[in-house]
Amino acid sequence: MNIRANARQAAALTASAILAIGITGCAKEDTGGTTETGVALVKSGVLTTCTHLPYAPFQAKDASGKVVGFDVALIDLVAAKLNVKQEIVDTPFEGIKSGADLNSGKCDVAAAGMTITDERKQVLDFSEPYFDATQALAVVTGKKVATLEELAGKRLGVQGGTTGEEYINATVKEKGLKIEVVSYRDLAALQQALATNQVEAAVNDLPVWNEYIKANPGKVEVAAGFDTGEQYGFAVKKGNAKLLEAVNQAITAARGDGTYDKIYAEWIGEKPAS
Ligand code: GLN
Repeated sequence: MNIRANARQAAALTASAILAIGITGCAKEDTGGTTETGVALVKSGVLTTCTHLPYAPFQAKDASGKVVGFDVALIDLVAAKLNVKQEIVDTPFEGIKSGADLNSGKCDVAAAGMTITDERKQVLDFSEPYFDATQALAVVTGKKVATLEELAGKRLGVQGGTTGEEYINATVKEKGLKIEVVSYRDLAALQQALATNQVEAAVNDLPVWNEYIKANPGKVEVAAGFDTGEQYGFAVKKGNAKLLEAVNQAITAARGDGTYDKIYAEWIGEKPAS
């Protein structure tokens, strides 16, 4: 009797130990999953998005710490289509644009107000363009600057790894301008540098300046625009055709049924006449 009870107990213990190992094993080595529609994901049950915070109005934390924005809303549509939830990972822009984060399985999709460029197309597969942008020069309100030439001998802030930085470096070189270009690691650092007069002016995508001005009325103004004709795209790992198709389908559906316009109105504002 006693021996039997002990044996049963031991068996039960072994079973639960195996179960526990099984569960921990799963949590540790989530080798991903596949959605009902056959799209492979790096982590089962979620669409993992890489982004670089903050980049309002495309992605930034709200008062409660939740990451929200235009890109977040669009990728939520992709996640809904795949019947999973979106999970956002904040990571430096360099790893996003180089394809390293997608290649290493850190995330399924990159959504970071990211401009489609030929160089990036070599290492990422981009979705259809989902947003048009240009570069803009911002100054502290009242500063009389209208051209890059006027910044000779002064410091101009840019954000590291971005198309804005590339545009400024190329233009400064081409025109032989004597501007000290200072690169900041993220948008928040760049905006802080501008607001505290560490730089005379700063360049970034126009929609992020518009958002900053909305949030901090009267502090900063757009002094000049550079029509770089950029288009944003979401990106997946090279060759991930199934996920790319789902992303493109979600964008097309949203454009067709008014959802895109609603998201645009919510996060960007009035749509420019097209
Ligand atoms: N659109 C710019 C680029 O792609 C900036 C993107 C960003 O900083 N998140 O380089």
